[in-house]
Order: sequence, then C-alpha cells, then structure tokens
Amino acid sequence: MKTIRVIILSTLLVFIYACQNQEADDPNWSGGAAHTEFGMVIHGGAGSIHKGRYTPEQEEAYNAKLKEALLTGYAILKDGGSSVDAVEKTIRVLENSPLFNAGKGAVLTNAETAELDAAIMSGADLNAGTCAGIKHVKNPISLARMIMDSSKHVMLIGEGAEKFARDEELEIVDNSYFITDKRLEEIRKIKAKERKKNERQTAELIQESDHKFGTVGCVALDKNGNLAAGTSTGGLSNKKWGRVGDVPIIGAGTYANNKTCALSATGQGEYFIRNVVTHDISALMEYKDMTLTQAADNVIMEKLVEQHGAGGVIGIDHRGNIIMSFNTQGMFRGFIKADGELFTAMYK
Ligand code: ASP
Repeated sequence: MKTIRVIILSTLLVFIYACQNQEADDPNWSGGAAHTEFGMVIHGGAGSIHKGRYTPEQEEAYNAKLKEALLTGYAILKDGGSSVDAVEKTIRVLENSPLFNAGKGAVLTNAETAELDAAIMSGADLNAGTCAGIKHVKNPISLARMIMDSSKHVMLIGEGAEKFARDEELEIVDNSYFITDKRLEEIRKIKAKERKKNERQTAELIQESDHKFGTVGCVALDKNGNLAAGTSTGGLSNKKWGRVGDVPIIGAGTYANNKTCALSATGQGEYFIRNVVTHDISALMEYKDMTLTQAADNVIMEKLVEQHGAGGVIGIDHRGNIIMSFNTQGMFRGFIKADGELFTAMYK
C-alpha cells in the first residue's frame, strides 16, 4: 500500500514539474495562473533625443514623470490588478503631463487644434478599443478602454466617439485644454516655413525640424500572466485632413497577444501602418519561434531602417522579458520589474 502511495506521489510530482517546464519552454504558452513574474514598460516617444538638447532640469522633469507613471502601474500590478488597468492608469499620468505628445501638450494640426488618437488591447482575449480624431475627451486612453469594455466595436472616430464618451460620462474638456504655448510656437514656425515651400518639401521639413515623437505607450504583464498594451498620441505636427496615425490601428502601433507579447510603438506612423509593425513582431515570435528581442530588432532595426522609417517599440513577453528597441537617437523609456527594480532613460 505504502509503495503504491509513493509511486502515485512521484508520478504526480513528475507531472507537475513537466507542466511547469512546458510553460517555461513553449514560446506559444498562452499564460495562466501559474505566472509569478509581472512587470511593465513605458515609452514617451522616440526621435532626435540626444545629449545637449535638454537642460539638466528638463532631463530631471522627464525622468521624474516616467518614474511616477511606472510607480502608478506597479502599485496596481503588485496588488494583483490586471495589466489592462495598469496600462490605462499609467497612460493617464503621461496624458495629463504637458511634457509628452499625448493628452495635454499634444502636437497641433495645421488648423492649430489638438486631434488625439489612442488604443488599448488585452492579450488574454484579443479584445481591443481604439479612438481617433478626438478633440474633447480629456483622457483618450480611457475612451479607448470604454470602447473595448462597453461597446461591441473596436474603433470609433471623431464626433461619434465623442458622443459615446459623453454618454459614458467620461471627462470632457475644451480643445484649448490640450494646447500649450510651446506647441503653438512650434506649429507656427512650421507653418511660416511651409508658406515658402510646396507640399512635398513640407513633409520633409516636418521630419527634419520635429524629429521627436512624444507619443506615450505602456505594456504590462500581470500576476495572472495576462498581457496588455496601450498607446496615446496627438499624432504628427502639422497633420491635415483628418490624418490618423498608427496608434489606433491594431497591429500597427499597438498590439497584445498572450501567446506572444504586448507592444506599443512610436515614430512616423505611416511606416508603422504600412509595415503592420507590432503585429509583424508578434507574428515572427508565433510563426518563426523568434524571441521578443530578435523579432523587434528584425522589424525596427532592419526592415524599418531599410525604408528610412524612424521610431521605436517597447514590449514585454509572456515570460516577463522586456525590450525597448529604437532606431533613433533616443527614446523616453523605462521599465519596472516584479522586485521593484526601476529604470528610466532618454538617450541611446
Ligand atoms: N506614431 C505617431 C503617429 O504617427 C507619432 C509619434 O509616435 O509621436 O501618429
């Protein structure tokens, strides 16, 4: 009888050990309750962010805000909250800061207005919510979350999206809330130069003068092994005709899938749309068994560089591996791990 009990017990132990190893080794493991690691990565835009461009006070302000955002999400994750909650609340901190190109302080359109795009995605069920052309919703990331949770659609734009926000009692503000003096000065300079040039040269001009993309993004892995990604932006300076960038296009600027990873991008949106960047990285992991680092480098450092597409991406995979890959001079970025290890940086 005793021998039978020993055999049953050892078989059980071998079985549990095998299951754990399968989770650790299988790149397609979809994440379950056994996960103990959790963490989060954020970005505040990529571009010509190099030493000498910012004063020590400005550097301090950026790093402090990145840290505040990371600690906001960390508190949620540490308490056993969901990655979706952590992503939304973290991005709200960055949207409310005038330092970044999202929410207050967003870059301005040719008409000197703010038009915002945002997206959030849950890797557990591939549910997503995105919004574009938002002019009056204080926190577009929360509108994206509301679209994901409380509508049967994925993307709402313009007036319809704002009507939904009003119905759901999200905070509504005047467009002037988003507009800062710095951004007004910036857009007026671009427009003054534009008057002297034709449309084609202007596109080049924008890329030269404002080679800094301050979009914000966040990706997180929670204690239940669920991934989420979110991104929020004012788009590109001097954009026209209702232009929508990569951010609210699922698979371009934002993507999360428990089978692979969660990703948020920043850069010249048109390149990220044409290359379906975040889904491409996830697909390389899923179908070609690449690691997160290999997949992100393949897309950001090779494919995009060949096409002169500037930008970067942050990501976290289902095992808690983190990447912050960019082909520009710098990217506002940071991460926090389960043990509380916190990192922020701006330059390469
Ligand atoms: N990717 C954003 C867009 O094209 C811009 C940015 O990253 O700052 O709308």
